[in-house]
Amino acid sequence: MNDKNLKNGFTRRDFFKNSAAASALMMGAGFLASGCSANGASRPGDAKNVIFMVTDGMSIGTLTSTDMTMRRKLGRISNWIDLYEKNKCRRSLMDVAPLDAIVTDSAASAAAWGCGHRVPVRKLNMGPNDEVYTPILTHFKNAGKSTGLVTTARITHATPAGFAANVTHRNMEDEIAEQYYEREHDLYMGGGDRHFDASKREDGRDLYGDFSTKGYQVVKNSSELASASTGGKLLGVFSDGHLPYELDRTSTPDLTNSVPSLTEMTEVALDRLSRNSNGFILQVEGGRIDHGAHGNDLGGLIYDQIAFDDAIGVVLRFQEENPDTLVIITTDHGNASPTLNRSFNGYEATEIEFDRIQNFKYTNDWVLNGLDESSSVNYIRERVEEATQIGITSGQARILQQALRGEHRALYEMMSPPDATLGAIMANYTSVNWTGTSHTGDYVQLAALGPGSDKLNGFTINTELFYLMAESAGVSVEA
Ligand SMILES: [Zn+2]
Repeated sequence: MNDKNLKNGFTRRDFFKNSAAASALMMGAGFLASGCSANGASRPGDAKNVIFMVTDGMSIGTLTSTDMTMRRKLGRISNWIDLYEKNKCRRSLMDVAPLDAIVTDSAASAAAWGCGHRVPVRKLNMGPNDEVYTPILTHFKNAGKSTGLVTTARITHATPAGFAANVTHRNMEDEIAEQYYEREHDLYMGGGDRHFDASKREDGRDLYGDFSTKGYQVVKNSSELASASTGGKLLGVFSDGHLPYELDRTSTPDLTNSVPSLTEMTEVALDRLSRNSNGFILQVEGGRIDHGAHGNDLGGLIYDQIAFDDAIGVVLRFQEENPDTLVIITTDHGNASPTLNRSFNGYEATEIEFDRIQNFKYTNDWVLNGLDESSSVNYIRERVEEATQIGITSGQARILQQALRGEHRALYEMMSPPDATLGAIMANYTSVNWTGTSHTGDYVQLAALGPGSDKLNGFTINTELFYLMAESAGVSVEA
């Protein structure tokens, strides 16, 4: 890897150069036997479809604790770890740094995959001097492929927008929604009503009306999604902001009925996009794992990661039936490094404490939404117990009360707000603790299978995935 190129934000690897000779060498070394391309090396254009799955803000402890919870509660291995265990994919660690920092945000991270350039944090597919880089969905659309975005965050949020928009700041979500309209991708599903509804947008523009005029079916809840006809373009917006956390969604009948799961949205997307005989590209984001980590909210984190893993299952079944599909599964950065520690009460106690996650009914976010600076110690205890079945002590509730009043000061100051305070209190009962409330600089997990995945090395620079997707699909990105 050329460091000078990296500093300029540009890293290109020609994945298929000398690929025949290289793969012959690797086969001789038994390399492919341990990878996923049992039928030999892939060639440019072998991947008719590309599915990019990103769980936002997943530290390795999130993947681990989720897999352990799934095994212990549901009696099954996670789809992600199953890929590793059965050697069904190529694995890599990925450096996700942005152009101008050593810890990234979601915008710069998604843009590196989305345009092949490292860009400054908060920018989407625009360089340090506002250079405009064509996003990958535009390249695929120009090549005659269908294009789609699915997320549990606002559809205009940084990660989906990283594949489709050009803005100088990720907060320009009204503009991102307009670019989605202008660029006419086939399918958008997620939250973010506030950026489409005329009564909520600053400029009063009725973007839903505009999308409808252009021939989009616009759906706003599960039943409308279920009854949408299968042809044509689709805009599905199921919440004012982000979609609810999976734990709260499944514990609240109104939300269960009205908001589709990530799995349901992914099934709809694959069904619709795969009707194009030229193939498609789809990004599927588990958008709220990141928020669970920011909030040190174990229930929010784990159950959204399980939901993401369920969506992986849908995608893997599709890939099995459509082996000319490149599937990439990764995250854009770590966040807060949740980790199962040996319990203060000993090794034997650790699993009893960890298994308490299985009884959670609501997230910490739900707990805190019902509390304020006037909440009594008793009420705080009741609300925590209703959500988690855990009875915290009066002393702990008093510390949370102080945090709610802005009077609590943790030694690591990032940990002073109510969410981090509650997260630390809960760590006494679950043995899962956090290092902070923000993104980390860790290298991240990357799994890939299908045509092109055999070109991945054990260590990847984020921008390389842009070229891997384009070259594997035979899509020109020179424009
Ligand atoms: Zn974040």
